[in-house]
Amino acid sequence: MNGVVCRICGDRCETEAIRFRLKTGAVSIPEIDDALCTGCGACQFGCPVDAVTIRYQAAGARAA
Ligand code: SF4
Repeated sequence: MNGVVCRICGDRCETEAIRFRLKTGAVSIPEIDDALCTGCGACQFGCPVDAVTIRYQAAGARAA
């Protein structure tokens, strides 16, 4: 998160794939719902500190 607290990525996501789970006394970490993410990149290009990286996988591949 590069030390920045904002929710621009969630605001820019049209499919609402990014959610912020509330944490008492801590910064909310964004969570991605893979089923809703289209890979459009709007979250990445909206981030002011380049905290978002999108990795595309071949069809059928599993994340490491
Ligand atoms: S890539 Fe697009 S759909 Fe996926 S989380 Fe980012 S803004 Fe949402």
